Amino acid sequence: MTRIGIIGAGQLGQMLGFAGQKMGLDFVFLDPADNPPAAAVGPVLNYAFDSEQGLAELASMTDVITYEFENVPVAAIEQIACSSVVYPPAKALQYAQDRMAEKTLFESLAIPVPGFRPIDSAEQLRLAAKELGLPIVLKTRRLGYDGKGQIVVRVEADIETACTELGGKDLIAEQWVPFEREISAIGARSVSGEIVHYPLTTNVHDNGILHESRAPAEAAELEETARSYLAALLERLDYVGVLALELFVTADGLLANEFAPRVHNSGHWTIEGANTSQFENHLRAILDQPLGDAGMRGFAGMLNLIGTIPDDCTSLPPAQGFLHDYGKAPRPGRKLGHITVVEDSAAERDAALQHLSGRLSGSQD
Ligand code: AMP
Repeated sequence: MTRIGIIGAGQLGQMLGFAGQKMGLDFVFLDPADNPPAAAVGPVLNYAFDSEQGLAELASMTDVITYEFENVPVAAIEQIACSSVVYPPAKALQYAQDRMAEKTLFESLAIPVPGFRPIDSAEQLRLAAKELGLPIVLKTRRLGYDGKGQIVVRVEADIETACTELGGKDLIAEQWVPFEREISAIGARSVSGEIVHYPLTTNVHDNGILHESRAPAEAAELEETARSYLAALLERLDYVGVLALELFVTADGLLANEFAPRVHNSGHWTIEGANTSQFENHLRAILDQPLGDAGMRGFAGMLNLIGTIPDDCTSLPPAQGFLHDYGKAPRPGRKLGHITVVEDSAAERDAALQHLSGRLSGSQD
């Protein structure tokens, strides 16, 4: 039986595991956490993500290794890539971990991005504010996620404090984009180079955390452009696995924000809403199996369950939604699960999402 090693045993590892079990695959995870979500699927080696011993054990027990989050140390991936098969490739991680390198890569592929500058001092930020105009979104180059490690600088008087608050160096200043919507383009590329694209997904964030996704996005005319950007990225990186490209929809077209070299929260709807889920296609891609059809089974929507899972959501009939409970202890701001709805029309899907949102906020409608 083919055994997959996954670095990280959170909910993404859990859902990869559930998809893989149906494909007859076995899993081993590496994660320092106690009883993480993916423990429901297979054994977890309790080591730090960059532990040489942990990685060596994982490699010795598995046929192919992948990862479920982008802050895995690149050196750790390079180390095991010497003796094991590891996908996605380390260079994808390298770009995804540094917003300057990532934006520069987008530019080199003619993928439009907001204006940006590297920032290592308040003086540089003042100059960037002059050149790019205010507001500016100031972000740490590394280790930012879910809106953490970033500040919107609206007036010159805030430059000094914003810079200090984010550590004063290794920052990036980006033009603030008055976007109409945020979307993600998710696709998979296999070892043999086969590529499939999921329909575009519209994403709504709340406090920097993904709150709701809807697919297909109301952006059919942008589909071809977004796909060409995603394909260019996949090819340039010799990418293998699922990749999610996050884009802003503006009056002048698409601007790339960032990419995630992994399965993505905005693709969770694919479990029930697509003919092949992003999780199955990630596994197919890294095993060099033919990729599954990424077409839709209807109009899909997904709501993240953050901080709490209301009691009346635990027994939803399938007609009202599919609950995924990751089995995590409740904590404010923590992603505990999600609910997917699949309907016959966009209007029915939006009504179902609205109904569920009402239940989640305690105001039944
Ligand atoms: P990020 O961590 O880069 O994905 O940013 C988190 C969220 O902040 C994004 O989903 C956007 O809603 C917002 N954001 C990030 N960059 C910009 C920008 N340059 N202009 C406007 N909003 C942004």
